Amino acid sequence: MDVKRTPSLRNTRFTEFLIQKNALDKGGFKEWVFCPGMLFNSTDKWWGDQGKRDKPHEGLDLCLYKDRKDTILRLGEKAKVPAIYDGRVVRIVDDFLGKSVIIEHLFSDFDNDRLCTIYGHTIPEDHLHVGNIVKEGDIIATLADSTKSKTNIFPHLHISLGWASKAISYDRLDWENIGAPNTLTLLDPLKVIDSH
Ligand SMILES: [Zn+2]
Repeated sequence: MDVKRTPSLRNTRFTEFLIQKNALDKGGFKEWVFCPGMLFNSTDKWWGDQGKRDKPHEGLDLCLYKDRKDTILRLGEKAKVPAIYDGRVVRIVDDFLGKSVIIEHLFSDFDNDRLCTIYGHTIPEDHLHVGNIVKEGDIIATLADSTKSKTNIFPHLHISLGWASKAISYDRLDWENIGAPNTLTLLDPLKVIDSH
């Protein structure tokens, strides 16, 4: 991550909240586990035919983790999804497994672009609407059930992190244009997510 652009970004307690809210610590939560295709900017798929993605991965897929005995476990359907930082919901948009919730945060870089986080493949909480203010750790959604999808993919949380350009109209933001010039300048979410 370019430090110059991120004067106030700090590590989050996101994993800690996720463990707490989903009681993932029964066997101890040691660390997240990633296949190469789950990582930011990867061009590989980690599901189905394991071929190439249409475009580089716009974020990070959280699905697998290890407990203290090094057993690999995965997030279940309906796992609760906490907000990474305090912020405001600016957009809820469809994705190929469910919905994506986009939250704008109070951090800004030297160009006054605003930081956004995106939580993909989820079912937003009933009470969650555009304009709502959320606190770090608040549950905003649960994971979408991916078993209905033809892609044969495990339920997982897609996280994107990016600087929203000043010119952006959140109403127009969707998965066709996220990451394109003048929308969001994407960063690697692993740089801020507490990975244990
Ligand atoms: Zn993803």
